Amino acid sequence: MKYLILGAGPSGLTFANMLLRSGEKDFLVLERDKTAGGLCRSTDVDKSPFDTGGGHFLDVKDPAVTEFVFSYLPEDEWDLYERDSRIDLYGDMIGSPIEANIWQLPEDRQKRYLDAIGSAGCNTGLPKPEKFTDWIEWKLGSAIAEDYMLPYNRKMFGEDLDSLGTYWLEKLPNVSYEETKLSCANHRPYGTQPGHARFYYPKKYGYGEAFLRMADALGDRIRYNERVESIDYDKKTVNDAYHADRIIVTIPPVSVMRHTGLPEELAAGLDELKYSSIVTEYVPERLDTKAHWIYYPDPKLSYHRILVRHNFCPGSNGYWTETNLTRFDTDRADKAQSAYFINDFAYPLNTAGKPAIMKRYLEYTSSKDIIGLGRWGEWMHYNSDVVIKRAMDLAKELVV
Ligand SMILES: Cc1cc2nc3c(=O)[nH]c(=O)nc-3n(C[C@H](O)[C@H](O)[C@H](O)COP(=O)(O)OP(=O)(O)OC[C@H]3O[C@@H](n4cnc5c(N)ncnc54)[C@H](O)[C@@H]3O)c2cc1C
Repeated sequence: MKYLILGAGPSGLTFANMLLRSGEKDFLVLERDKTAGGLCRSTDVDKSPFDTGGGHFLDVKDPAVTEFVFSYLPEDEWDLYERDSRIDLYGDMIGSPIEANIWQLPEDRQKRYLDAIGSAGCNTGLPKPEKFTDWIEWKLGSAIAEDYMLPYNRKMFGEDLDSLGTYWLEKLPNVSYEETKLSCANHRPYGTQPGHARFYYPKKYGYGEAFLRMADALGDRIRYNERVESIDYDKKTVNDAYHADRIIVTIPPVSVMRHTGLPEELAAGLDELKYSSIVTEYVPERLDTKAHWIYYPDPKLSYHRILVRHNFCPGSNGYWTETNLTRFDTDRADKAQSAYFINDFAYPLNTAGKPAIMKRYLEYTSSKDIIGLGRWGEWMHYNSDVVIKRAMDLAKELVV
């Protein structure tokens, strides 16, 4: 066939639908699971939608993306929300991001955080560090680092935070020392807002519904329960069975057991890539809060974030937790017969060596018309709106 697309998450589904829209029908999508949607899948738990890959919201920022998504799940089937996200700072509940909201804390704690930010490296003229852990203290000061950023990120990404670089930090909110001082004086947040300041969530469904509809549009051009186990880069063949002129890889290359024709140095690079796994678990308790989600840095709690479902899913109950797999007690969850879902590939980690590894790998594979796309194909911390845009652009470049 002309195109073989590996993975039926948002990247693969968008690329495949773009092909279809351009009149190209000579393609097939291979998906290891029995349903489409990838990390954006949803199911029903306690009679309401539950996003099995963690809380998923559609950012409003790119009209081309929202228009594309709305052509499958129309705009009037979504609600629009103003983000209300909070941090439970060991019992004190404040808004997020922390550096714009410490004014909500008792005054002595505000002073401790402000003093530490004032003497942080970025405010005393020290050069930007290379490691994520050093950068946190350099940017936000030792107090926020110790109380929030280090414990929270350890809980989410895993203990090996020292291996992370700093090249990806434009994803984090940027609030200056001056803006933090201003917010303490005027009792309101200043500075750039984090992602999803406004977001859409489906009225009657989970987030995964948009992707089920994209999958429906593809009909039998998706082959489910078909795990990719081998790629032959010279023959452009997958699982010794499927051959295509071009292969679009949206699956984690490290999930493929056999890479034939890949130079040894590149295969060794793939072995160095790291990722973290997340478990979501349902808790059937109604919380007295208006927050959509809450971050928990306290190391004594296994989970790092909860999603307060009844605040974005009309008519629902309860909340769900997100926990790094290494901190999740499956025996406890099994005994409690709770609903939980393991996502083996959740976060591609931004380790210091990753950009060079992926650049070499992607250059080599594209020279063979095997093209990496999306969160795993490019090993980037992309959200679904970003991968949809990248898939639309790639399809336009290759086909339209
Ligand atoms: C906790 C969490 C919260 C998030 N919140 C948001 C949010 O609020 N908003 C947002 O826009 N984005 C959010 N994201 C990011 C979003 O999940 C991703 O951007 C999106 O799912 C990426 O799509 P993808 O198709 O590139 O990858 P995936 O969704 O991971 O899809 C990859 C597909 O490949 C399949 N696959 C894997 N290995 C193989 C194999 N060997 N053979 C065949 N198939 C295989 C998988 O089953 C999957 O279907 C969040 C992610 C996480 C982890």
